[in-house]
Amino acid sequence: MNLQRSYLSDFVSLLFPELCAACRESLLANEHLICTACIYNLPYTNFHLQADNIVARQFWGKIPLEAAYALFYFNKGGKIQNLMHQFKYKGVKQIGNLLGSLAGEQLVKNDIFSNVDFIIPVPLHKKRLQQRGYNQSACFAEGLAEKLNALAEIDNLVRSKATETQTHKSRFERFENMLEVFSVKAPGKLINKHVLLVDDVVTTGSTLEACGACLLKIPGLKLSIATIAYAE
Ligand SMILES: [Zn+2]
Repeated sequence: MNLQRSYLSDFVSLLFPELCAACRESLLANEHLICTACIYNLPYTNFHLQADNIVARQFWGKIPLEAAYALFYFNKGGKIQNLMHQFKYKGVKQIGNLLGSLAGEQLVKNDIFSNVDFIIPVPLHKKRLQQRGYNQSACFAEGLAEKLNALAEIDNLVRSKATETQTHKSRFERFENMLEVFSVKAPGKLINKHVLLVDDVVTTGSTLEACGACLLKIPGLKLSIATIAYAE
């Protein structure tokens, strides 16, 4: 950057300081996307230290998992909601890589997660992908893959059709319906591998359950789950 450009960008950032995506305070020159105070004080779950955590329990009796994890607790009106809003609706896709790195730094210290071979994001609806231009879970997967020394498999798990309206269906019918929605394009490379399935926010877990059930049809596949946030 030449001197003139640099003065100009300093001037622009004086007028429009870059804000922390979580607390919305001005960032310092050496900070990027999330301020240092937030990086230290966001509501981390530390589920990588607790095998029978509340996310793991959501899947008990439904699908067999090696381990389950969420990086943050999601509190409505809080910093994680700001962060997810910037990430999903304001086009700040770099947040995904940063959160993937933060999660990866924790998971690489865990015996189960550190043995993951592939990281697969929950695929987005085609229409949603066109609107947003990126799959937020894929950005998270790429950040994680780097720290875990695993491969991000972005396009292998796909949505075969848009989900029909679910309001008049029973829970089981809804689950059956979701099962039809997902398929694996190249299952061969996932045989006997440990796959980490990732999503942005886990609430009921029904989408992760349907994706997981689809992946678990592959012989010898071991499945774990990681999300950015857990919402009660
Ligand atoms: Zn902040």
